[in-house]
Amino acid sequence: MNKATISEPSFRESVDLMFNRAVALMDLPPGLEEKIRVCNATYTVRFGVRLRGQIHTFTGYRSVHSEHMEPVKGGIRYSTAVNQNEVEALAALMTYKCALVEAPFGGSKGGLCIDPRDYDVHELEQITRRFAYELIKRDMINPAQNVPAPDMGTGEREMAWMADQYQRMNTTDINGRACVTGKPPNGGGIAGRVEATGRGVQYALREFFRDADGIKKAGLSGKLDGKKVIVQGLGNVGYHAAKFLSDEDGCQIVGIIERDGALFCDTGLDVDAVRDWIVKHDGIKGFPDASHQADGAVVLEETCDILIPAALEGVINMSNADRIKAPLIIEAANGPVTAGADEILRQKGTVIIPDMYANAGGVTVSYFEWVKNLSHIRFGRMQRRQEEARHELVVNELQRLSDHLGDAWTMTPDFKQKYLRGADELELVRSGLDDTMRTAYQAMAEVWHTREDVTDLRTAAYLVSIDKVAASYRAKGL
Ligand code: NAD
Repeated sequence: MNKATISEPSFRESVDLMFNRAVALMDLPPGLEEKIRVCNATYTVRFGVRLRGQIHTFTGYRSVHSEHMEPVKGGIRYSTAVNQNEVEALAALMTYKCALVEAPFGGSKGGLCIDPRDYDVHELEQITRRFAYELIKRDMINPAQNVPAPDMGTGEREMAWMADQYQRMNTTDINGRACVTGKPPNGGGIAGRVEATGRGVQYALREFFRDADGIKKAGLSGKLDGKKVIVQGLGNVGYHAAKFLSDEDGCQIVGIIERDGALFCDTGLDVDAVRDWIVKHDGIKGFPDASHQADGAVVLEETCDILIPAALEGVINMSNADRIKAPLIIEAANGPVTAGADEILRQKGTVIIPDMYANAGGVTVSYFEWVKNLSHIRFGRMQRRQEEARHELVVNELQRLSDHLGDAWTMTPDFKQKYLRGADELELVRSGLDDTMRTAYQAMAEVWHTREDVTDLRTAAYLVSIDKVAASYRAKGL
């Protein structure tokens, strides 16, 4: 691709271009490539809700990209920028993401064209329930066929309304709660879902920094500890990623970009303090102890070790890609780097940890929640005390040994307390997520490091995931 001769591809085109680069390196049977690429169906719904004395008409979408596995899965986004092209691109990414992390779902995505900040809670509930009603009656929200989750502009609250709407309309469905994920813990949710995508970004970076060849390819050295990070979007994903990286891995969050500009501080920002400031002041402007830049996007181009776009698609594009200095970009958002920018960055040697892997923590923990809902039992409920009883046997034996040896050997002070405690749901969820992120990274890295024709992680990720989708179609006899 030549920057001078091509124009910026749309999000949907970007996903297809990246897909095409990968399938060109594969040996798929004729026709299967096209079958995997196309979006199976997109449903557009327009519905009216009476608000403030008059009827308002809303437009929403639910797109199903691939049904090689069912149910299909993907978030529902509330934003004024939602359109068919966007939901189809996001649905396609969901197919590849689920395959890569071995979550047994096809890909889907939904969106409603509204700015949630324009409505109060009661109005949002009315709109959400009506949108859900339209989707439920067409089985586009259904535990066996199509299971939405939160995305930009939606969260636990919206998922709880949708689940309740489904249960009102399907009173005898014993698995009704599994119709959406990302619900609040007291409404059928799972511990650790809210933090899951940001937590997954952290686990992805930890795994990257265990990969000596990967670190070298990015021109970096050392560990995650001490790395300078810039984050765009301090919403659900960006906040949790930034918080965990600074609190637990010793990273310095030197830049935070939000809707109303960016904060920069070379010695590191206090992520919780910035988040509190945003909640109180509806933006980052005025935050003390940091410089404020009105044109936030410029801070994407600042010097740092790791750049985390965690807000919107298309923010790194052909107009700014050659000025991006970060040697490592992790795509916490979906589609933040356009196909045109991807080409420029690859030529510069920038390593990009691709969205389909980087933000897969959300769907992974959603998968755990769905399984929990279908099994009707909290994770750990059967094993926890039994595990503790077995650990107690070991601790008692060690105590006997310690008593026998006197001062020559004693147990480390907090060993007993730590070892005795059986894992609760949150620990199990984090462990399952960590395992998923490590396994998927290793599958991609093997392709990246061993195939000469694969020079980037995104192509490697597509190869791994398309291979799995193709195998699933083949098993069905297609
Ligand atoms: P969110 O609505 O919680 O947060 C988005 C944040 O971006 C907000 O703080 C918003 O103010 C900020 N923002 C909006 N426009 C901006 C701009 N122009 N510049 C800078 N900041 C801007 O959304 P989220 O759930 O954190 O999702 C963010 C991205 O992560 C999306 O691409 C989404 O598809 C992706 N994602 C989310 C999940 C999830 O579990 N929530 C899972 C996978 C992927």
